[in-house]
Amino acid sequence: MSGSAMDYDVLIIGAGMSGLAAGIRLAYFDKRVCILERHHRVGGLSSYYHRKGYDIDVGLHAMTNYVPKGVRLTPLPKLLRQLKLQPEDFDLRQQRMSVTRFPEKTLRFSNDFNLFVEEVNRNFPNQTDNFQKLVAAIRDYDELALDAKPLSAREVVGSYISDPLLVDMLFCPLMFYGSAQENDIEFGQFVIMFKGIYCEGFARPQIGIRQILDTLVKKYEGHGGTLRLRNGVQSLRVSNGRVEAAVLDSGEVLTAARIISSIGYIETLRLLPDYQPSRFPCDEGQMSLVESVLVLDKEPVELGYDTTITFYNGSERFSYRKPDQLVDVSSGVICCPNNFQLDKPLPEGMIRITNLANYGLWNALNEEEYKARKAVSLEQALEQVVKLIPDFRGSIVYSDVFTPKTIHRFTGHINGAVYGAPNKIKNGATHIENLFICGTDQGFLGIVGSMLSGISMANYHVLQKT
Ligand SMILES: Cc1cc2nc3c(=O)[nH]c(=O)nc-3n(C[C@H](O)[C@H](O)[C@H](O)COP(=O)(O)OP(=O)(O)OC[C@H]3O[C@@H](n4cnc5c(N)ncnc54)[C@H](O)[C@@H]3O)c2cc1C
Repeated sequence: MSGSAMDYDVLIIGAGMSGLAAGIRLAYFDKRVCILERHHRVGGLSSYYHRKGYDIDVGLHAMTNYVPKGVRLTPLPKLLRQLKLQPEDFDLRQQRMSVTRFPEKTLRFSNDFNLFVEEVNRNFPNQTDNFQKLVAAIRDYDELALDAKPLSAREVVGSYISDPLLVDMLFCPLMFYGSAQENDIEFGQFVIMFKGIYCEGFARPQIGIRQILDTLVKKYEGHGGTLRLRNGVQSLRVSNGRVEAAVLDSGEVLTAARIISSIGYIETLRLLPDYQPSRFPCDEGQMSLVESVLVLDKEPVELGYDTTITFYNGSERFSYRKPDQLVDVSSGVICCPNNFQLDKPLPEGMIRITNLANYGLWNALNEEEYKARKAVSLEQALEQVVKLIPDFRGSIVYSDVFTPKTIHRFTGHINGAVYGAPNKIKNGATHIENLFICGTDQGFLGIVGSMLSGISMANYHVLQKT
């Protein structure tokens, strides 16, 4: 390749968490790297927007994998070391307490795993030994092996735990925070989520997702990386089984020795000339969400609600599947950003309600229906939620709802699928020699997971090979 200004060692498609983390690794090792992002802001699924004077986070309820300073071998400190960041850079505040609420039982959990073990033992005394054996198996499992054979977590967990209610209760938070599959999850992913949520725990930066995004961008640009917002990649030119150039929405052409794409596997293949779905059979992701954001005139704690996150399920069995209607409020997540151990109160009270939703049905509505159905969906979510937590409806001063259609519009993920396609490409390779996948469809999910994905793909496909 020539040394022209448009020629890079690596092009990264997408400035979400995974693309930014990959970029930092590469720029730190003096690679000429350029991140191309179609949106006018970084963050992708984990971003924010301003509305009516409020800063609203999109994809942050909580960061998983919180561990106190000094712990070294778990994912969060590993990723901080890889990115040459200090724990202070993320300014994380721990959760107070979260719960999983089913009609018959409630399990509390915090950032102290012993509490969760006590809760399981107290609520399911005949499962004590089984749960202990499951935890031992989880601790022994190498969830980061890039060549691991996919296993069904339902089958593995069911071979230890004989009470289906406990199985459902263990799965509920893990599926909401990381399953691309209906009613199941790959066991390696289950282990990642189990450790990240139950064994380690939840935290959030005092000011929310901007803390993480600003830190990553500053680090990346500080190492000399180029970030180009409003510069989507429209197609990739291929010759002799290699990408030879990326064509931007503007028509500009960039060349690079390697391309890392964080936009999803099928989404990436669609950039290739002559892409034929039948040659690359891969199920599209289906699991998407509606999120209702409620700004309150007081702190939720003043209304008697001090839980950080409530995962709820109102029916006998927990069903995690694409609903047949626009939204399914019978289960969901209630997150309260105020209820972390913050230094100072947030500017306003806030409650976020997240429910499973059907992209196709939302997408089929005309503009007027779409608006009306968002209002109905909000009413339905509120009605369900105030059966579980103090009625805060009288304190709402502003509400906003975003749908699978919004998620698709701002991130390009097919069907607005938050966790991407059900089958992951663990080693990040594609049939094109110099084109690799990171992020959602590589398989490490969530905020911490996607940063680890970007790091490991940059290490594996670029730094270890050059
Ligand atoms: C409502 C909601 C709540 C969530 N809550 C949590 C949570 O509490 N905790 C947690 O850990 N995770 C949470 N997540 C998940 C988390 O946000 C994601 O797993 C993570 O951000 C994924 O990052 P990524 O880099 O893999 O992908 P993305 O964020 O999707 O990044 C891909 C980027 O590529 C860009 N792009 C797409 N096509 C192109 C193109 N052709 N050219 C250039 N750029 C392109 C997109 O605009 C996007 O910025 C939540 C997500 C949502 C939607």
